[in-house]
Amino acid sequence: MKNYQIAIMEGDGIGPEIVRETVKVLEAVQRKCPALSLSFKPLPVGLSAYEQHGSTLPKETLESLKQCDAGVLGPVTTHIYEVHDPNMVNPSGKLRKQLDLYANIRPSRNFPGVPGRYDNVDMVIVRENTEGMYADRSLYEGDGEVMPTPDTVMSFRVVTRKASERLAKVGFELAEHRRRSVAVIHKMNVLRRGCGLFVDSCRQIAKQYEDVAVSDYHIDAFSMFMVQKPEQYDVVVTTNMFGDILSDLAAGLVGGLGLAPGLNLGDHFMLAQATHGSAPDIAGKNIANPIAEILSAKLMLEWLGIRNKDEQAITAAALIEMAVERTLLKGVKTGDLGGSATTGQFGDELVRQLENIEIREVTRWNK
Ligand code: NAD
Repeated sequence: MKNYQIAIMEGDGIGPEIVRETVKVLEAVQRKCPALSLSFKPLPVGLSAYEQHGSTLPKETLESLKQCDAGVLGPVTTHIYEVHDPNMVNPSGKLRKQLDLYANIRPSRNFPGVPGRYDNVDMVIVRENTEGMYADRSLYEGDGEVMPTPDTVMSFRVVTRKASERLAKVGFELAEHRRRSVAVIHKMNVLRRGCGLFVDSCRQIAKQYEDVAVSDYHIDAFSMFMVQKPEQYDVVVTTNMFGDILSDLAAGLVGGLGLAPGLNLGDHFMLAQATHGSAPDIAGKNIANPIAEILSAKLMLEWLGIRNKDEQAITAAALIEMAVERTLLKGVKTGDLGGSATTGQFGDELVRQLENIEIREVTRWNK
């Protein structure tokens, strides 16, 4: 039986609260699936790591991560990190780059018991995660932004064929197991070379997936279509910043950021991380919605299962999603979804639901 070593990094703001519930759920699913073996390794990142170890991403954390199979990362309050302090790096961006977690998979779908603006949204945004517009990950060294005068800033955007093609491959493979449709999002009419290279790379990969329908849209028009008829989109493949923005939009269509999970996927490692940030406005109040982080861990188990041909991990992932649905259907929700449950109460009810599900029900549901 394979043992998965899972790094646990709480992060800032609501991070410790939602990661605590996530671990609680992972421990519960492990009790339920005895053939699933997980061990947890807490590692410091973020502001508390800076206070205790002098860095928001201590070297020891990075080294220890390389010994793990996967990780769960809470959000980080990067907007207050000091730009000129080399020990205050954005752990989230740095880890994606350092561990080559090139595809950020961000699903959005309707959940029973959560009224949304639409009924049948079920899309996955597959976002390039290692280059693009974001200053902290677009170059080998340096931060990709140059300030020639106090009143002028130039920001670089990097697009490579290698990163675009490997991202597209993840998107098309995912589409093959879903509704067989990929939308490629770009701004090729203006960013002719950068977006041109991205779209061309996606089209090259598309040739290997003849059974998957491909379309492409300018980001501005697509934003409108997403609001008007989101039900028609399946897998959306796009560059880093466009994907970051569109995934928050997608979360807004189905009930909000509290429901928006994410997985940073590389060839050798993966990091579960909700789409949302550290929500400083509600941090420390025990009212944050832990679903996004819990479902990120669910995605992690699913992909660990697929990669290791481990049916138990895939079943465990389905079990978690089913328990989330049952908890919501029971009306137990946090404030962002109109409920009154605390973060801890939601987690406790989710564990109760999970414990009451028969494994044979899960298998049936998963099919
Ligand atoms: P945010 O996602 O933290 O919050 C936006 C709004 O959504 C807030 O009203 C917040 O209360 C709410 N919200 C978010 N997650 C929620 C949850 N789980 N339950 C209930 N409500 C939730 O975005 P922001 O306010 O723009 O950014 C706050 C900080 O997070 C900034 O420092 C930003 O840099 C950082 N950030 C980090 C990440 C990351 O670590 N991956 C991602 C985005 C933003």
